Amino acid sequence: MEKKIYERPIIKPLNTGLMNKFGTRTEYLAMTHIDGVAVKELIKNYGSPVFVYSEAKIRSNFQNAKRAFTTRYPKVQFAWSYKTCYLNAICNIYHQEGSWAEVVSRFEYDKALKNGVPGNKIIFNGPDKTAEDLTLAIDNDSLIHIDHFDELYMLTEIAQQKNVKPRVAIRVNMDCGVYPLWDRFGFNYETGQAWDAISKILVTGSLNLVGLHTHIGTYIMSSAAYAVAASKMADLALGIRNKFNKSIEYIDMGGGFASKNTLKGSYLQATDYVPEISEYADAICSTLLTSGFQANELPYLYLETGRALIDDAGYLCGSVIANKRLSDGRKATIMDFGVNLMFTSFWYDHKITPAQEFGHHTEENVLYGPLCMNIDVVRSSIMLPPLKTKDNVVVHHVGAYCVTQSMQFIALRPKVVLIDMDDKVHIIKNNESLEDLEKNEISPGYLLKSTL
Ligand SMILES: *Cc1c(COP(=O)(O)O)cnc(C)c1O
Repeated sequence: MEKKIYERPIIKPLNTGLMNKFGTRTEYLAMTHIDGVAVKELIKNYGSPVFVYSEAKIRSNFQNAKRAFTTRYPKVQFAWSYKTCYLNAICNIYHQEGSWAEVVSRFEYDKALKNGVPGNKIIFNGPDKTAEDLTLAIDNDSLIHIDHFDELYMLTEIAQQKNVKPRVAIRVNMDCGVYPLWDRFGFNYETGQAWDAISKILVTGSLNLVGLHTHIGTYIMSSAAYAVAASKMADLALGIRNKFNKSIEYIDMGGGFASKNTLKGSYLQATDYVPEISEYADAICSTLLTSGFQANELPYLYLETGRALIDDAGYLCGSVIANKRLSDGRKATIMDFGVNLMFTSFWYDHKITPAQEFGHHTEENVLYGPLCMNIDVVRSSIMLPPLKTKDNVVVHHVGAYCVTQSMQFIALRPKVVLIDMDDKVHIIKNNESLEDLEKNEISPGYLLKSTL
C-alpha cells in the first residue's frame, strides 16, 4: 500500500451566527417584554417559571380566523375546544367572542355549564360518555356527537325510555391523505360504517340527526386534507337528503389546523411551511359551496379549532438554574421548567429567547429541565448566547395544551397570568401548594407518623 500524503492539520474558528438562508439569528433575539409588560417584572411579581397569556393575541387570532371563514361561507360557528386550554378566564374570552364550547369529557362539560354556556351551545364529543353524562346532555339539549355503536345503542335506549329525541351527530373518520389514519374515533367513511350508523339512527327514529362531525387529526399541515374531508362530509349529507329526504343542519369540521410551532427534525421553520388559516378556510368553504347543496340548504359550518387559535398567545417565562459542560464538550443549561410544563417539547422545537439583551457570541446548547429524569430535555440542540444563572428566557407557542397537560411530578405547578387589553396583569390560576397536592391524600392512622 502506498504511503498516504501528509497534510498539516489546521485550527480554524467555528463561526456561529452567520447568515443562513433565513437571515441572521432567527432564533435568538432578546424578548424583554410581552405586550408591554417587562418579563423581569412578571417573574419578580409572579415567580419563575410563570405562564403568560396575551388577551390581545387571543382575541386577534380568533377574529382573524372568524373573518377567514365568514368572508367565504355564510353560516359559521366556532366552538372553543376546552381541552386545548380550559382555564375559565381563557374560555370566557372565547365565549365573549361568540364561541360555543366543545368538550370531550364530563368535567369539561360541567366546566362549560359553570362558565354560563347554554346547554344547547355545548358540543359533547369523546368516546367516554356514561349513561348519566348522556342523560344530562339530553336534558340540557346539548349536541351529542356519537363516537361508536355502543354509545349509539345506549343513547337510543335512553332516548326511548325518556321518550325524547335528542339532537345528535355522528363523528366520522376517513382517509384524507394524512397518515397514519386517525380511525380510532367515530365511524369510518370508506368502509360504509358511517353510513351504517346514519341509517340506524334514521330508520330507528329515536334520535334527531342534526349534524355530521369529523376531526381529522391535529397539527394537520395540509389544507388539501380538509378539502378531501369536507367533500366526504358533503357526500354523506347529500346522501342523507337523497335517501331519507332530510337536510343536515350542520357539518362540524373539528379542529386540527397547525399552529406556528416547528416540529422536531423539520428543516424549515413552521412559519415557512404551516398554512395560514385562510388556506384552510378556502379548502373547506370552497369544497362545501361547490359540492351540490342548494343555496338555501347549505349546512352550518362548525369549527372546533384549538391550537391554531391559542398557541402563540401563550408564553412560559423561566430562569436559568445552572450551566455545565457535558462529557462530550457540549454546553448544557438547566432551566427551572421542563417537560412537566411543556409536554409539547417531545415533538416541537419550541422557540426560546433570552429575556435580556446579549452580545453576539452564541453556542450550541442542550436545554434541560429541573426534573430528575433523563428525558427532561426542553431542547436537544439550540443556538443561544451564554446564559448565566438567574438569567431569564421566554418560551414561545406554549398556549395550547401545555397548561392542560402539565403535571406536578416533583415540582408544583406555577401561576398562570393574563395580560389584558390594557396591558394589566391578572393571575388567572394560582401556583399549587403542598396542601393542594395533599388535599386528597388519606393516610391510615397507623401511617400518620414514623419514629426515626
Ligand atoms: C382536540 C380536539 C379539537 C381541537 O384540536 P386542535 O388540534 O387543537 O385544533 C377539536 N375537536 C375535537 C373532537 C378534539 O378532540
